[in-house]
Amino acid sequence: MRRFTALLLAALMLLSLAACGQGASAGGSAQNAAGDPTPEEEAPELPEPEPYEISDPTVMPEGGVRDGVTYAAYDGIVEHLFFHPVVAYPELAFDGDAQANGIDDYMVTVDEYNKILQSVYDKGYVLVDIGDVWSETTGEDGQPKMVRNTLYLPEGKKPLILSYDDTNYYEYMLANGFTYKLVIGEDGKIASWGKDPQGNEVTSRDLDAIPILDKFVEEHLDFSPFGAKGCLSLTGYQGILGYRTQTDQDVEWTAEREANRQKEIEAVKPIIAELKRTGWTFGSHTWGHIRLGTKSLESIQADTQRWFDEVGSLVGPTTILFYPHGERPDGNDWQNTGPVFQYLQSQGFRVFASVGIESFSYIKKDLCAVICDRLHPDGTTLRHSRDRYLQFYDAKDIMDVTVRPQREIDWA
Ligand SMILES: [Zn+2]
Repeated sequence: MRRFTALLLAALMLLSLAACGQGASAGGSAQNAAGDPTPEEEAPELPEPEPYEISDPTVMPEGGVRDGVTYAAYDGIVEHLFFHPVVAYPELAFDGDAQANGIDDYMVTVDEYNKILQSVYDKGYVLVDIGDVWSETTGEDGQPKMVRNTLYLPEGKKPLILSYDDTNYYEYMLANGFTYKLVIGEDGKIASWGKDPQGNEVTSRDLDAIPILDKFVEEHLDFSPFGAKGCLSLTGYQGILGYRTQTDQDVEWTAEREANRQKEIEAVKPIIAELKRTGWTFGSHTWGHIRLGTKSLESIQADTQRWFDEVGSLVGPTTILFYPHGERPDGNDWQNTGPVFQYLQSQGFRVFASVGIESFSYIKKDLCAVICDRLHPDGTTLRHSRDRYLQFYDAKDIMDVTVRPQREIDWA
C-alpha cells in the first residue's frame, strides 16, 4: 500500500510538473510579444548553500563516540512540543479585535518562543525528528507493526520532537501580526517575508518560528546532533508556507486562476527543497482542517485525496498525521480502531498525533500505527499550566504579560 501511495505521488508530481511547464512557456511568450528583455538577468545569484548534515539517531556512532561526544542508548519518553505560527508583531495581534483572544490562547510571541528554545536547550533537550522515533517492522505473526526505536543520544541528553501546526500563513493571520510567507533570503537561507505595522516590507530570520529555529541551531549545533529541526503540519485549503497553491471549489476556476496557482507552485518548490535539506519534515493536518471525529467517512476520504493531490504532491510522502483541533477519529482511537482510523492508516499514515497534557504515546496492537499526544506551549498553558511545563521552562520567565491581553494568570 505504501508503495502504491508512493507511485501515485510520483505520478502526481509528474503531472504537476507537466502542467507547470505549460504555465512557464505561456508566460515566456507573453514577454517576447511585449519585446521586454528577459527579467531573469536581474535575479541575484544565490550563494552556494552551506553543507548540512542529517544523521540517523537510531544508529550508535562507531565506537560510541562522535566528534568527541559519548553517545548512550535512550529508551525513555520522547517529549513532544508543538507550536502554531508565532506572533511577530504583538501590537497587531493583541489590538483588541475579534482575533486577539484566540491568538492569546493558541500562540506565543517571538520573544516568548526565543526564551522557550533557550530554556529547553539549557535543560538538556536535543532535537529528534518524529519520523525517527518509531519504525515499521514485521511482527511474529507476519503482519506489519510499529516499534519504538532505541535512540542513541549524546550522554545525558533528552530527546525532544518539535512540530508546527498550520504553517500555511492563512489569510486571516496576515493583518494580525504574523509573517506572510517563507522565502529564501539573499544569504540563500530560509527567511520570512511580511509587513511591519507601518506597512514596510520586511525580510527577516528573526520574526518567524522556522528561521528562528534554523538560526538557533546554527548558534547551538549541539541542540540538533542529528540535524533534525521540526515537522511542519500542513493543511491545504489556503495553500502552503504562504503560497496559494490550492484550488478553490467555490469560485469559477479560470485559466488565469490556474496560471497563478502554477506560479505559486513553482515559487514554493525551492522553499520546500531547502527546508528538507536543512532538517525539516512535513506531515498532514488534513486539507480542510476538518474534524476527524465528526465528519463522514466519505468526506474524510475526499479531503485526504485532496491533501495528497495539492500538498503531498509538493512536499512528498509522509507517515505523520496531526489531528485538527486535536480531535481523534472514531471516538477513542486508543481503545477502538474504527473505519476512519483504518482508512487513514490504509493511506500510509502511521503516526497519529493529537494534543494532551503529556507526551503520551501508544503503539496500537491491532493495526500498524502509533498514536501520540503533544504538549502545547501557548497562551493557555503559559497562563494556566505552569507546573506541567516546568521540565521545559518556567512560564514566569517566559510569558510577556506586558504585550498580551489582561486576562487571568494562575501563578501571578
Ligand atoms: Zn490546526
